[in-house]
Amino acid sequence: MDKRIVIVGAGIAGLSAGIYAIKAGYKAEIYEKNSIAGGECMGWNRKGYHIDNCIHWLTGTNPGTDLWKVWKTVGAIDENTEYADTDKFYSSRIGGKEASLYNDLQKTEEELIRVAPEDEAEIRKFIQYVRYAESCVIPSRKPMDMMGIKDYIEMGKSMADMPKVMKEYGKINCGELAARFKSPVMRKLMSDYLPADYTAYSFLVSYATMTSGNGKIPLKGSLAMSLRIANKFKEMGGVLHLNTPVKKIVIQDGAATGIELGNGKLVRADKVISAVDTNFLFGKLIDRSYMPKPLDRAYADRRAYPVTSGFQVAYAIDSDFSGEDTIFFECKPLRIGSNEFTRMSVKSYTYDKSFAPEGKTVLQANVVQSDSDYEYWESLSEEEYDAAKEALAAELTKRIIAEFPELEGRIELLDCWTPLTYNRYCNAYHGSYMGFVTTVGNKQMRFKGVVKGVDNLYIAGQWVMSPGGLPIAVISGKFAVQRILKKEKKDIMSLD
Ligand SMILES: Cc1cc2nc3c(=O)[nH]c(=O)nc-3n(C[C@H](O)[C@H](O)[C@H](O)COP(=O)(O)OP(=O)(O)OC[C@H]3O[C@@H](n4cnc5c(N)ncnc54)[C@H](O)[C@@H]3O)c2cc1C
Repeated sequence: MDKRIVIVGAGIAGLSAGIYAIKAGYKAEIYEKNSIAGGECMGWNRKGYHIDNCIHWLTGTNPGTDLWKVWKTVGAIDENTEYADTDKFYSSRIGGKEASLYNDLQKTEEELIRVAPEDEAEIRKFIQYVRYAESCVIPSRKPMDMMGIKDYIEMGKSMADMPKVMKEYGKINCGELAARFKSPVMRKLMSDYLPADYTAYSFLVSYATMTSGNGKIPLKGSLAMSLRIANKFKEMGGVLHLNTPVKKIVIQDGAATGIELGNGKLVRADKVISAVDTNFLFGKLIDRSYMPKPLDRAYADRRAYPVTSGFQVAYAIDSDFSGEDTIFFECKPLRIGSNEFTRMSVKSYTYDKSFAPEGKTVLQANVVQSDSDYEYWESLSEEEYDAAKEALAAELTKRIIAEFPELEGRIELLDCWTPLTYNRYCNAYHGSYMGFVTTVGNKQMRFKGVVKGVDNLYIAGQWVMSPGGLPIAVISGKFAVQRILKKEKKDIMSLD
């Protein structure tokens, strides 16, 4: 009889684990607390508009890369996928000047030198190193701890230029990168996208994903992609239980034997894969004492391993507002708890016609939130929370109109949400929608997706490796199944 794998959580990691489990010959069932699969890769409708709330870029859209094969296997994208026709990563404005990072590096270099001639040498260097960073790929064939010398040699060859990037930008953070430039607009361009304490090389790699064409946005958005993957799982014979929260992973004699559902029902399993937030897994689903040491250290040190979330507002715009994709700008100080913000961003979704009625568009505003912001939101009573959210959204609207006066009378609030929303919806630690941030001088978070002292329990999800995000989620599902195959002395490469 086929062995039965039970998976907790139907985000991208859980769905991927389910698909690979079936490919490996197991019966797979996924238990998801929400009424829809996708987790943080989500979108929802308001007043005839679609709010797309995940994919700013999907790493692995270049056919031929190992990651592309994983995305194709899970049914996310294929040779016929249509992508948004965007030509820019984002723009930054300050003091009447604007600078942009285009997908075309040559164009970017020329424009940046025109905008900030005083930084020509630093700009040329930055562009050159982004070219080097284009060689960076996420190893997607098997977990790194299962790689042999041959695999490392191959990886080293394909990423031959990455050591140069690490040498030059691996030991500074985005704040320090910004300080290498003289021009205020260049400084903002270098530090607007990722929080200042992120390592600078992460920023170069992110931008290089765009310039190499390996980071595009599939049309129809994030929810549609999640549903394609969920449908593939079901078509392959997988069973997806929605609205079914899991209360516990059952451990007997040092091995996981199944799960206990919120309604008390027990579900037996030969193997259990947890694809939920690890802070929730260790503490709520199993005892916190099982938490692997590196993970425990990261949760304990909020300064070395911060996480990020956002205060976000979605608007309907009664026009195309096609001028910008994502733009960061200076704003009148905004207070959230004890923190003050003087920069915010808006992103126009004009690139996908399916999100809004003809001639209209969706605009989203974001103020990046940290651990301490989460604590502020959490400290509020329900009434205070609702009032603070509403008041802040109104403040953001004023600042958007101050920056884009043409939107006066044409901007309507659709929805707003906070870091707490991600916690409520996905049990996300501090509302984080990525894994731990890697800061300078601290090891990148990575742990084997197994639990010492508990057999038959495997972990998938973005928290197994920083920086998290969709690629880590999808490969971690595959890797969890490869770990099961290895334990059963089967061919781990049979999944390719
Ligand atoms: C605004 C935003 C922008 C983003 N932009 C990008 C981007 O451009 N590129 C990129 O790569 N990534 C991006 N991400 C990150 C990406 O969405 C996440 O990294 C990824 O979706 C995480 O997947 P996951 O499966 O690991 O976790 P999750 O999506 O959190 O899935 C966990 C699932 O487990 C379920 N669950 C939790 N507790 C239980 C329980 N007790 N019982 C049953 N089920 C449970 C949850 O409901 C959820 O469905 C973005 C995210 C957000 C929110």
